[in-house]
Amino acid sequence: MTSPLSDPATRSLRRRLRAVVDGQVISPGDAAYDQARTPFYGGFDRRPQAIVRPRNATEVAQVVTLARETGLELAVRSGGHSVAGHSISDGGIVCDLSAMKGLELDPGRRIAWAEAGLTAGEYTTAAAAHGLATGFGDTGSVGIGGITLGGGVGYLVRKHGLTIDDLLAAELVTAEGRLVCADAETNPELFWAIRGGGGNFGVATRFQFRLHEVSTVVGGMLLLPATAEVIAAFVAEAEAAPEELSTIANVLPAPPLPFVPPERHGRLVVMAMLCHAGEVEAGQRAVAPFRALATPVADLVRPMPYPELYPPEDPAFHPTAVSHTMFVDAVDQRVAETIVASLAASDAPMRAAQLRVLGGAMARVPADATAFAHRPSRIMVNLAACYDGPADRAVREAWVADLAAGLRQGDDGAYVGFLDDEGEAGVRRAYPAATWERLAAVKARYDPTNLFHSNQNIPPTAGS
Ligand SMILES: Cc1cc2nc3c(=O)[nH]c(=O)nc-3n(C[C@H](O)[C@H](O)[C@H](O)COP(=O)(O)OP(=O)(O)OC[C@H]3O[C@@H](n4cnc5c(N)ncnc54)[C@H](O)[C@@H]3O)c2cc1C
Repeated sequence: MTSPLSDPATRSLRRRLRAVVDGQVISPGDAAYDQARTPFYGGFDRRPQAIVRPRNATEVAQVVTLARETGLELAVRSGGHSVAGHSISDGGIVCDLSAMKGLELDPGRRIAWAEAGLTAGEYTTAAAAHGLATGFGDTGSVGIGGITLGGGVGYLVRKHGLTIDDLLAAELVTAEGRLVCADAETNPELFWAIRGGGGNFGVATRFQFRLHEVSTVVGGMLLLPATAEVIAAFVAEAEAAPEELSTIANVLPAPPLPFVPPERHGRLVVMAMLCHAGEVEAGQRAVAPFRALATPVADLVRPMPYPELYPPEDPAFHPTAVSHTMFVDAVDQRVAETIVASLAASDAPMRAAQLRVLGGAMARVPADATAFAHRPSRIMVNLAACYDGPADRAVREAWVADLAAGLRQGDDGAYVGFLDDEGEAGVRRAYPAATWERLAAVKARYDPTNLFHSNQNIPPTAGS
């Protein structure tokens, strides 16, 4: 059998990349290839011609230039958690930033410069050594690259806003291979666009973030029986809670975790993650109403160092799942009944409706201040179901679509970070018309040929 490395095109590309990049170049046939081409989500069996791990912005620029010159597709990867599989190319080049993990913390000025290859968990652990934090999402292995460019909705969203609300500056390599800075004064339109516009405008190599004092939080997991009453009351409490408290409630069949009594396994529960970033006593008061909603199935909420909200993960976990993200205005008893009935009717081994009550600091930023325009949205809902093979996938997709239709209210927007591959119609859900037009104009300026298209794509406005 011929080795893929004996393919002249692969060999030539590898030679050219090696000539300009000191970082790893991984090609088909290399021992590391299969692992390097595996993103977080399963189901993406794509075979890039090369996966390159540049070591600095200069090398990123070389990779971008080479992709442009060869005409090969370029996919950009930080943490590899793209829901739509955008960070892995079939036949192209993957610019994998995972070797770029530099972090300069300035605790005195409460700012940090962080390279895009860091994960949320790595950044959080390092900042916590100084009693400081920047908010990311709910999962430590998510890359700060992707989550920041999408917006960033996590455990500090009500207290400190989105990740982009703490973004002070970024450095990017543009489609021309130029390294540019974007902040409020320098390239302000680009700075506006990268705060929510995703990876459309260049490869972000470094971010400058504001840090907040966050050390001990009252947080962790609370499991409640998932009746419609409990779900609706949970959401009402989350909306009424002080802004220090952000919640993420997953309604799903109870997994067989050690702290879940065996008789509960497979029965619907609200598996909620709570985070109160404030005084411990105030935190205990804030979580009390949630504990009182029903006799908890498990209660792991306690004062803890903030990074403990990002527990170690199994690197071999690559779920195959379909999903849908949307916003709703309210989850009352009727809406909660729809959720419970739909989850109960499905036999997917894992299926979930995730409810994130928003508001607080996130909602106070004007909707047009950044490319994330969903500031007034009240509750984010993420629906997901795992599948096993193409036939099952179709069944699960139909289930997700059906539940989404049943939940649809007045808010037709979507958070780009959780968007599956819904084509242009999906991307347009992420951006109201005025935001879309403005993003397309920025795109035309910084990436007129749409080199960066393996993403939730905003095509450049013709002629602008
Ligand atoms: C398990 C899980 C939990 C999640 N939880 C949350 C959450 O709580 N809150 C939330 O807001 N989101 C969450 N997300 C969504 C997540 O923010 C997005 O999927 C994000 O794009 C992942 O970033 P990444 O760097 O890991 O992904 P990648 O797959 O590496 O990148 C995704 C895309 O982002 C772009 N991109 C990434 N890095 C760069 C860069 N440096 N320069 C230019 N473009 C880049 C590219 O277009 C790329 O295709 C979650 C996703 C998963 C899978």
